[in-house]
Order: sequence, then structure tokens, then C-alpha cells
Amino acid sequence: MRIARFAADGEVRYGIVEDSGSGTSAAANGHGTEGLTIAEVAGHPFSPGEEVKLTGARHQASDVRLLAPVLPSKVVAIGKNYAEHARETGSEPPAEPLIFLKPSTAVIGPGDPIVRPAHLSKRVDFEGELAVVFGRLCRDVPAARVPEVIFGYTCANDVTARDLQASDGQWARAKGFDSFCPLGPWIETELDPGDVLLTTSVNGEIKQEASTSELIHDIVTLVTYATAVMTMLPGDVLLTGTPAGIGPLIAGDQVSVHIDGIGTLTNPVVDGS
Ligand code: MG
Repeated sequence: MRIARFAADGEVRYGIVEDSGSGTSAAANGHGTEGLTIAEVAGHPFSPGEEVKLTGARHQASDVRLLAPVLPSKVVAIGKNYAEHARETGSEPPAEPLIFLKPSTAVIGPGDPIVRPAHLSKRVDFEGELAVVFGRLCRDVPAARVPEVIFGYTCANDVTARDLQASDGQWARAKGFDSFCPLGPWIETELDPGDVLLTTSVNGEIKQEASTSELIHDIVTLVTYATAVMTMLPGDVLLTGTPAGIGPLIAGDQVSVHIDGIGTLTNPVVDGS
């Protein structure tokens, strides 16, 4: 099931994304919504153990504005979790997961602009990543119970001011600017994340291409590790790390993170004033 959050008629709602069977390619319009309909959900879908209820209303996905599929209280992110990427940054993969936080205010949705703080940073990079969305409040989750706390998966871009990451030591500024965490286009609740292809492209040119099977620390390990530190709330997000191929974005670029089995998250890049 694909769960989207969207704005229609001046209201924000959740819905289930369905193929309307028009035969149009879902990737045809760049946002991946061509030929899709959205069945409105009553309330929100984060109700453990309860069936999702529909209102009966349906929208053409191309007629609504998709929003970030979730508004997390926090975004927990993992650094250097693909060996080749760790090496391209000049370091060895860490023995234990390397955790950092991105503020909730960095989250934007599909099509929203990534705003480069050009007056503060000379190099802003894309980082395509698989994102885990938590479905329930949890802490100290043992490995065997990790599937119970995961609501689904979405695409993420862990946008990073690379020069500030190096100069600050701490990563809060480099990773924390408004718009530095695009999420979407929706949450896929039935993905098997063990071996799916992740592709990041800029203006149609592929820059990153890797399977999630290359994660150094797998999702079960990351969830047990992170929840040993902090409580996760429904809708909280965990970014699983980026593969090799990171590179800069400039104003006018269109950056897309595609994950097989989920969809494509595309954002334009602009310079902030
Ligand atoms: Mg990252």
C-alpha cells in the first residue's frame, strides 16, 4: 500500500495511492503521479492494529499537491553506511552505526525547492537515501520486533552543505538548513527493503546507483541501535545512509531519488537570498 499526504481544496489529507488503470506510465510526468488516483483516508494512517478507513472520496493524483508523506518529530540519519561512500569521503566505514539528527523543519515534499544557502555554503550536495518511517511509539526495540514498529519506506535526500560539514566538525548546521530533507513521494508499506535499487540523478544524469543490499549496517541493526538511544514517535524517520557518487547541486538543477518499489522523489534547486 502506498500512503500519500496531499493538499486538495485547501486541506491536508492522507490517502492511498492506486493505479487507476489508465495504462499511462507512472513515471511519465516526472513526479510519478500520471495515471494514479488517491483514495482519501479518514484521519491519519498511524493507528497500530487498526484498519485504514477511507472516506470514499477520490482524486486524480495529478490534480493534487503531494506533500512530504509524513511530518516527523525528528529525522535520525546514519552516516557512512555504504563502504564505497565512506571511502570517497576519505574514511573507513565505521564499526558501529554513526548517528546524527536532522531537524523536522528541514523536511520538504516532492516538487518543493531545495534552497541553497549560497551566502553561507559554497558546496551543497545531494545524498539519495532509503528512509524508514516508524509507525508507533517505541524504545529499545529488539531485533525480532523491528518489523512491528516500521510503518513503511520512502525516498529521501539527505542534502548536505559539504564545506560546513568539514569546517564545523558537528554536522547540525551542514545537515540542518530548511529544505535539506526532501521526503516522498509517498510511503510504501509493503516494500522488502533488503535488496532494492536506489538511483539518484541530476537533470536526468545518473549520479548514484546502488542496492540496499550494500548497506553496512542493515535496517534491523539501525533500528535496534537508534532506539537504544531515543524514543521514536509515530511518523519519525530514519535515513539509512547514502551510496557512493555524491556531488554538488546548483540553482536550476532538478534532483531525483528513485527507489525501485517505491517511486521517484524530484526536487528543483534554487539559491536563497
Ligand atoms: Mg546521508
